[in-house]
Amino acid sequence: MTGSLIVVGTGPGKADLMTPATAAALERATDLVGYGPYLDRIPVTRTDQCRHASDNRVELDRARHALSLAASGRQVVVVSGGDPGVFAMASAVFEAIEAGEPGWRTLDIRVEPGVTAMLAAAAEVGAPLGGDFCAISLSDNLKAWTTVERRLKAAAEGDFVIALYNPASKARPHQLGQAFDLLRAIKAAGTPVLFVRAAGTPDAKVVTTTLAAADGALADMRTLVIVGASATRQIGRWIYTPRGEPGTRS
Ligand code: SAH
Repeated sequence: MTGSLIVVGTGPGKADLMTPATAAALERATDLVGYGPYLDRIPVTRTDQCRHASDNRVELDRARHALSLAASGRQVVVVSGGDPGVFAMASAVFEAIEAGEPGWRTLDIRVEPGVTAMLAAAAEVGAPLGGDFCAISLSDNLKAWTTVERRLKAAAEGDFVIALYNPASKARPHQLGQAFDLLRAIKAAGTPVLFVRAAGTPDAKVVTTTLAAADGALADMRTLVIVGASATRQIGRWIYTPRGEPGTRS
C-alpha cells in the first residue's frame, strides 16, 4: 500500500470552523501526528487509528516522524491549529523534506487549508483586515528579535494593519510591550488595538483599546493582537478598516 501525508489545520478551536475536507482527511488517516493538545481536540471516530502526540517545540522531529510513517505505507495526517501553513507544521514538513531522505520528495503529500487565527479574530470584532494587512509572529524562537523589530517598523511605516501571532508566552513576557513601544514611535496614539483571546470559540474574549493605552500584559499564548492602520475605526461596537482610501472610487 502506498503511503500519504496530509497536513491539516483544525481551525481556531470550534468544531464547525474545521473544514469538511480536513474532517474527511482526519477520518481516513491511519496515523495522526501532532502537538498533544491539538490531537486532543479531535474526536475519536476510529479505534484502529494511531495517535502520535509530541511536545510543542519539536516540530522538525515530528515532521520527520510523519514522513517516515508515510514512507512506510501509512496514511498520515499531521495536525496543526488554525491553518497548517501559518506559523505551523506545513513548513516544518517541507523543511524536513529539503534536508531529509531523497525518497521523501516523491511521497504523496497534500496541504489542506484551515481558518487561521487572524481571520477568526477579525470576524469577532468586525472587519479590521478589510484593507492591506500583514501578519508577524513575535516569537523569537526561530528568528532574531532584531528581525521582528525591523518588520514591525516596516509594517508601521507602510501603514498596514498588523496581526501579531505568538504575542507572548511565559518565556517571553515583555516582548509585546517592546513591540507596542516601537509602534508608538511611528503610529498615531489613537490607533485601535484589539486583543482577541480564543477567537472563534465559545470562550472568545475581546479587549478593544488604543495604541497609547495598550498593555502587553493583556495577551497570552491564546491571544491574537491586531493593531489598526491609520484608517481603522470604530462604529458602534464594531471595528473595521475601509477597503480603500478616501477620495478613491468605491
Ligand atoms: N497555525 C495557527 C497559528 C500558530 S501560532 C493558525 O493558523 O492560527 C500560535 C498563535 O496563534 C497563538 O500564540 C495565538 O497568537 C494565535 N492563535 C491560535 N489560535 C487562536 C485563537 N483561537 N484565538 C486567538 N489567537 C489564536
